[in-house]
Amino acid sequence: MITITKCQICNNKVFEPLFSTKDYFFTGETFSVSQCAECGFVFTNPIPDKDKISEYYKTDKYLSHDTSGNGLMGNLYKVIRGFNLKNKSRLISKYKAKGRILDIGSGTGEFLNYMKKKQYEVMGIEPEQKARDFAIDNYGLDIKDGSFITKLPDKKFDLISMWHVLEHVYDINSRLKQIYELLYKDGFLINALPMIDSPDSKKFGKYWAGLDVPRHLHHFSSSTFGLLAQNNGFDIIDKYPMKFDAYFLSLLSHQAKKNMLAPIRGFFDGFIANLLADKNKNYSSMIFVLKKV
Ligand SMILES: [Zn+2]
Repeated sequence: MITITKCQICNNKVFEPLFSTKDYFFTGETFSVSQCAECGFVFTNPIPDKDKISEYYKTDKYLSHDTSGNGLMGNLYKVIRGFNLKNKSRLISKYKAKGRILDIGSGTGEFLNYMKKKQYEVMGIEPEQKARDFAIDNYGLDIKDGSFITKLPDKKFDLISMWHVLEHVYDINSRLKQIYELLYKDGFLINALPMIDSPDSKKFGKYWAGLDVPRHLHHFSSSTFGLLAQNNGFDIIDKYPMKFDAYFLSLLSHQAKKNMLAPIRGFFDGFIANLLADKNKNYSSMIFVLKKV
């Protein structure tokens, strides 16, 4: 295990313990969550060693979830995924109507395949081999392994996207620096994150499914992500809600609590969370649009 000794956002060394929580989805192991006393950044601490983290992913489970769709939940998942793809594409076209896109953490490739059909030039990075092979074999996409980004190729991009990825990355400052180098001067970074300051996070506390320890190493708020972006030469120019996530995370949080009627209560709580978030714009998940300063 790696014990965090310095805040990745402000370098402060004084932390407060927030709570202990569990890996409710796979292993049932207990993990602690700390908060920086200076900037308020929340993070899992300690975290698994880099060469041990893959044990917490169980690729097969993720894959079947992503690619097979039988029964009510499977079909519902496909419908929502269709909505999400359309929304992501519409959002991106506001900033870049054409050009070269790099998706970091491209998974099984559905997003890039959709954007390819919209005439963008697309490339992905995916560390998990099975997901990478699926995207290459099924969609004919150009997907690199995780080492691609550390080599910093000459290739530049008009837009880089990370959909719920940065919270999984060990060194978040290095990652943002790499992205800075890979973007054209007028390029955009689109970054989606689960938000620890959302109403559903506050309601469920240590049971909130958006914690997803130990896979989520960091738990951002609008304010701590804003600091991180600023420290690495980016301005946040726009924010958008991902409203489906409030339903999905509320459902999973009820399941983590072993509550009866989790789907019904999840739906209700997701609806309330979105309603509450409308006021302070602190949705369950947010999409941040960033530009180089
Ligand atoms: Zn800090």
